[in-house]
Amino acid sequence: VATTPARNEDAWLAEAFARLVPGPRVRLGMGHDAAVLRHDGRDVVLKTDTVVDGVDFVLAACGPAAAARKAVAVTLSDLAAVGAVPRALLVSAILPRGVTFETFAAIARGLLAAAAEFGADLVGGDTSVADAPLSLSVFATGDLRDGGPVGRSGAKPGQVLSVTGPLGGSIFGRHLTFSPRFDASAALLARRVPSAMMDLSDGLSRDLPRICRASGVGADVDPAAIPIHDDVRRHRDGRSPLEHALHDGEDFELLLAHDPLPPSVEAELLALRVRLHAIGVVTATPGAVRLVHPDGPIPLVPQGFDHLAGSASPPEA
Ligand SMILES: [Mg+2]
Repeated sequence: VATTPARNEDAWLAEAFARLVPGPRVRLGMGHDAAVLRHDGRDVVLKTDTVVDGVDFVLAACGPAAAARKAVAVTLSDLAAVGAVPRALLVSAILPRGVTFETFAAIARGLLAAAAEFGADLVGGDTSVADAPLSLSVFATGDLRDGGPVGRSGAKPGQVLSVTGPLGGSIFGRHLTFSPRFDASAALLARRVPSAMMDLSDGLSRDLPRICRASGVGADVDPAAIPIHDDVRRHRDGRSPLEHALHDGEDFELLLAHDPLPPSVEAELLALRVRLHAIGVVTATPGAVRLVHPDGPIPLVPQGFDHLAGSASPPEA
């Protein structure tokens, strides 16, 4: 008998796909940032993601080319997260009825520029028209780097949790202009650093528990160690910089669990401009994700964006 899970994306997926059994060719399946399929003796990486006007961007504010770039970048960020490089892109567009050719051509320009920027071939797609806001779904294939794939399930108690850059305030522009962290992914994979990794799309407070659930572990996070982006100062809503860094989302930095870095490896990464900001440790208590303040630990409650809950405000620009 099906139960009705809490109204959030992870709970619905877990309940509705509980009977999914990954086939023998599936190296990474549902629940990781991208899928990895063993096919004809090699690994193929697969990913799709969708952005929608009014949810992920505001078309009237950012324009169609920037929306198209974001559609590509959010999909490719998940390839970076599993340790893959992009190869081919397919794009499905749902255009609002009455769309002009200028808008259509600008979307195409944005897609082509993004494909070139990230070294992928745009090879096809599909166009529909509906009484609906603009929606762009980008499907990508990729190839694994040596050392990949890195999924979400490999975090082990005692490991360090790190992020690759400062968090918060992406709404002031970075949610459109970010670049997937292929540089960090490459440098980390080459040194076999990550045991588990994902990109931070929905906010640390929502994404960190996903790595913990997948790995059967917990996490103790030091709030004072979380790198906070300067952009959070532009918020005028009374919430603290830490709250924004924890919950804003769309940072698209990488979150990873790893053994403590030898100083030589840390120096090599820094020489490649990849800085790991250690924010906490992996613990052995499944599902216990805590902020450890000087006066004691408190649970880290997810407040990042959830599509089903509609819990965060849409982007301003
Ligand atoms: Mg992801």
